[in-house]
Amino acid sequence: MHDLRNQTLAETVALAAALGEPRYRGEQIWRWVHARGASSLDEMTDVSKDLRARLAGQIALGTLEVAEVQRSVDGTRKLRLVTRDGKSIESVLIPDGDKMTQCISSQVGCALDCQFCATAKLGLSRHLEPGEIADQVYRAQALLAREEPGRRISNLVYMGMGEPLHNYDNVVKSIAILTDERGANFSHRRITVSTVGLVPAIERLGREPEVRPNLAVSLNAASDDVRDRIMPVNRKWPIARLLAALKAYPLERRRRITFEYVLLAGVNDSDDDAERLASLLRGMRCKVNLIPWNPHPEAPYKPPAPAAIERFQNRVKALGLASYLRTPRGDDIAAACGQLANRSQAAVLPASRLSAP
Ligand code: SAH
Repeated sequence: MHDLRNQTLAETVALAAALGEPRYRGEQIWRWVHARGASSLDEMTDVSKDLRARLAGQIALGTLEVAEVQRSVDGTRKLRLVTRDGKSIESVLIPDGDKMTQCISSQVGCALDCQFCATAKLGLSRHLEPGEIADQVYRAQALLAREEPGRRISNLVYMGMGEPLHNYDNVVKSIAILTDERGANFSHRRITVSTVGLVPAIERLGREPEVRPNLAVSLNAASDDVRDRIMPVNRKWPIARLLAALKAYPLERRRRITFEYVLLAGVNDSDDDAERLASLLRGMRCKVNLIPWNPHPEAPYKPPAPAAIERFQNRVKALGLASYLRTPRGDDIAAACGQLANRSQAAVLPASRLSAP
């Protein structure tokens, strides 16, 4: 059965019309799902019981179950959410002054196999549906409403598990839903989609008529030689093709592309790397976020020593690149960049399950 949560407003209005209901009734139902955070049809108390029953005959309304919330000493929260087919995904709430950024997942696992990333080790289980992507926001907002009344999620970043542009249609639809003013009403400027650099999908995103998120690109290396090794996707779309697509990308006024650059000691943190990076990006409207590698057990890397990080940043700055050093958030609960791997799940499995043959 289809899920109501996957529908745009127009689709729900059409469904209501098929049941003989006027437009405003469809809008009312849709607002329950996307503005009021309903997790079941029964919560729609101002929709008649009869209509709710007829709806239930046509369509389901699923919701993610909040299975676990972990809290970091720095105020970051990590939610483990479970889908109707029992898959776990993670989403992270990151407070920063007045801002509250939510990092959301687009897939269960990931297929891209970046060598430094914990999510990659899971492999890809499946794409998330548009409603599952949006519901991460509604469940987190409901948690916030209980714990910090009045506080709202202000920014969304598609930087959790998965490669958003590998799940292109569902991600674009989720953005259309989340930016609808009759629903969660996020501004496009407060949504960022991060990609490993799937060139055809970047080109397609640039042509989307209605959906205009900010774009972040995980570059992570300044030569094909290094990038081929740490990000296999580079063998298909090497740096020159990626940057050509980004230079052609229709950036809106006063926006810039963000490049993420995970610093791996001895791999991509030399003076030469800094110089190559600066010359690759020269003249682009962009900024670089330097992210010292966040440790996890599945990969053999190390973050550079603090002095090496500083040296790298000073070098790219001196060469004219806007660069920002990202301090890890929530690393004590494995919620920082690249650490999302459902590790907590193993910890809560009953011992009997763990020891089963
Ligand atoms: N697949 C998309 C969305 C995930 S964003 C993308 O790669 O852009 C996650 C970010 O964390 C990426 O920039 C990735 O390069 C970075 N990352 C992955 N593993 C990391 C780690 N262990 N430490 C720091 N950053 C990491």
